[in-house]
Amino acid sequence: MDPTLDSKPASEPVKTKKWKKRVRSSSPPPPCALVSYKELPEYMKDNEFILSYYRAHWPVKEALFSIFRWHNETLNVWTHLLGFVLFLGLTMTHLIQVPQVADLIAFFTRYFPMSGDLNVSHDPQDHFMRAIPANLIDLKLESDVARVTRWPFYVFLAGSMFCLLSSTVCHLFSCHSHHLNLSLLRLDYAGITTMIITSFFPPIYYIFQCDPQWHFIYLGGITVLGLFTIATLLSPALSTKKFRGFRALLFSSMALFGIIPGIHAAIVNWSNPRRNVTLAYELAMAMFYLTGTLFYVSRIPERFKPGWFDLAGHSHQIFHVLVVMGALAHYGASLVFLDWRDRHSC
Ligand SMILES: [Zn+2]
Repeated sequence: MDPTLDSKPASEPVKTKKWKKRVRSSSPPPPCALVSYKELPEYMKDNEFILSYYRAHWPVKEALFSIFRWHNETLNVWTHLLGFVLFLGLTMTHLIQVPQVADLIAFFTRYFPMSGDLNVSHDPQDHFMRAIPANLIDLKLESDVARVTRWPFYVFLAGSMFCLLSSTVCHLFSCHSHHLNLSLLRLDYAGITTMIITSFFPPIYYIFQCDPQWHFIYLGGITVLGLFTIATLLSPALSTKKFRGFRALLFSSMALFGIIPGIHAAIVNWSNPRRNVTLAYELAMAMFYLTGTLFYVSRIPERFKPGWFDLAGHSHQIFHVLVVMGALAHYGASLVFLDWRDRHSC
């Protein structure tokens, strides 16, 4: 065989094949094509067990519409987007009070009449009061007198929604550029921190409602620690590899800080007749978060069959589902605390 044959026209088909292969491995793929792990820029190489279906350097518009395309982040986006919609729905339900929805519909249909035969009053307040059904006013007055304040509960709901939405945005757009990738990762961590801080509010507030000094100590303490963690995560200087240990220390200290009010709350809450229900919910939450973290860290199951779980079933998706379930369990516990405090104030 002539060793120079490769460079001659006769060998063109062979050469073209090699050239194609070389081009495929070294030059950028066509825009908005899904690429393999090996083709990723270094900063996107995170999980070597997910081999393909990656997006890299996609324009923002294409990244946005990729929510309706199959790639290895599709289910990461949808698991937390649906979680966000679920918590938004729960929040709206509590804000408008479901049993009163029918009354509200009646209120709006009366307030914005379809026919023109309404006897219009010139006093807007009079018009407003006459438009509200009597039973709605009764419920409002009753709720003002008997119900415990809801703000700690809404703080938790808002924190959960912020976490789930920032995670959704992060997974959808982090394929755009290195700069956006870094910024969104920080936002994602800030979201997780916010959810941790805000989760403390319902149990601590309602359990120590009669000893408000503990609100200041525990809720103030976890808020300061959480805000310091967020400031650290958002600071470019402290986001470098050099400070990885420091960041881990901050997250650990938040978890360790939670042990003290957790034990204190369990002791104070021990005489509560609903102790077992709230403990079961909070234990379920702890199990969901712990199992989720184990999947996240161990990268099971994709490490056993690299490439098999690229689109569905990989560890990060399982972690996302368990985070939503953990938040739901904590929501369940918060409802029990609310109901208990509605009936037993200080
Ligand atoms: Zn995630």
